[in-house]
Amino acid sequence: KPKSTASIIEQTEEHGARNYHPLPIVISKAEGVWVEDPEGNKYIDMLSAYSALNQGHRHPKIIQALKDQADKVTLTSRAFHNEKLGEFYEKVSNLTNKEMVLPMNTGVEAVETAMKAIRRWGYEVKNVKEGQAEIIACEGNFHGRTMSAVSLSSEEDHKRMFGPVLPGIKTVPYGDIEALKAAITPNTVGFLMEPIQGEAGIIIPPDGFLKKVKDVCQETNILFAADEIQSGLGRTGKTFACDWDKVEPDVYILGKALGGGVFPISCVAANENILGVFDPGSHGSTFGGNPLGAAVSVAALEVLEEEKLAKRSLKLGSYFIERISKIDNPKIREIRGKGLFIGVELTEAARPYCEELKEIGLLCKETHETVIRFAPPLVISEKDLEWAVEKIEEVLRK
Ligand code: PLP
Repeated sequence: KPKSTASIIEQTEEHGARNYHPLPIVISKAEGVWVEDPEGNKYIDMLSAYSALNQGHRHPKIIQALKDQADKVTLTSRAFHNEKLGEFYEKVSNLTNKEMVLPMNTGVEAVETAMKAIRRWGYEVKNVKEGQAEIIACEGNFHGRTMSAVSLSSEEDHKRMFGPVLPGIKTVPYGDIEALKAAITPNTVGFLMEPIQGEAGIIIPPDGFLKKVKDVCQETNILFAADEIQSGLGRTGKTFACDWDKVEPDVYILGKALGGGVFPISCVAANENILGVFDPGSHGSTFGGNPLGAAVSVAALEVLEEEKLAKRSLKLGSYFIERISKIDNPKIREIRGKGLFIGVELTEAARPYCEELKEIGLLCKETHETVIRFAPPLVISEKDLEWAVEKIEEVLRK
C-alpha cells in the first residue's frame, strides 16, 4: 500500500534539518507541467523547482539521454576524459559566444568558480595587489548558500551567526548605476549581478541598466559577471536575461535548467583571458563535468532550441501578465515580469494565497513574504496556462 502524504511528511520531518519550510504536499509523480501526490491529486507546477524545470518534468528527450548514458558510463572524474564533456563545452560555448566553459554541479558552485576566476584575473591580469581584490554585488542578491555566496548577501537572515564572512565584498543598490560607479576603486575586479533578481521577488532593473553596467565595467577594467542561474535559458523570454539589453557579460554563470531538472549541472562560461587563469590544481570537482550530467545537459539545451522555449516564454508570459493585471484587487501592489518569470507583489503575506492555490490544484511559492512567484515550465500549453490563470483569478479576486 503506498504511503500517505501525512506519513511521508512525518517521516521526512523526523530526522531532517529544518532549513526549509515546504508547503504540505508530497510530489510522487510528475510529467510536463503536472505533478501528482500519493493520493492521486493532480496539481499544476507553477514554480518549476525555481526555474530548474524550464523543459518540464521528465522531458522524454532528456530522460532518454540520461538512460542512454547511464547504460554506458556515469562517472570518470576529471582524472580521465569522457566522451560527453567536449560536446557539452561546444554546446555551451556556441550558446554563450564564449571561448571557455568550466563545469560544476550546483548553481552556487558555479558562483564560487566565477568569484575565484574574477579574483585571480584581478591579480594576474589587472595586476591588483594580492589580497586586495574587491568584488561588488547588489543589495537583495541571491547567489546561493555557501560561505562565499552568503558573504555577498545583504540579507541578515542568510548570514546570521555564520561569520566571519569573506572580506573584499561591497554591495550597492540594485539598478543604481551611480552607486556602482561610486563603489569602484582601483582594486575592484568584478561586478556580480542577477540581470533580474529572482529570490528578491522578480526585481527588474531599469531599461538599459545592463548596457550601462557593461560600459562602466569596460571603462574601469572590471569584469561583469551575470548570474543567469535562474533568469537564463529561456525563462525571461530570451535565451539570457542579458539579451534584453543586447549585452554580453564577461562571465556567464549558469545552472538549474542547464540540467533540465534531471541532473545537477552548472557552469561558468567566459573567454580565455578570464577562465584561462585556472591551471591544473587550482580548481575542480569530483562530479563536475561527469558524462551523465554532460549528456543530460546537451539534451536539455537541445530541447530549449528545438522547442523554441524562449519565444514561447515571451508570448505566454505577456498573455499571463495581461490577464492577471486585470484582476481588480487593492491587495495587489504590483505585477512584475518578463516572459514566464512573474512576481505578484501583495500588500500582505503571500503564503496563505499559495496555500489556497494549492488546495485548488496550483503549486506556487511565496518569496520575500509578500511576493508570489509564477514561473511554470516553459513547455506549458496554452490550455494549461489558461487553466492556471482561472485558478489564480479565483483566489486573487477575493
Ligand atoms: N544564483 C541564483 C540567481 C539563484 O537563483 C540560485 C538558486 O536559487 C543560485 C544562484 C544557487 O543555485 P543552487 O541552489 O543550485 O546552488
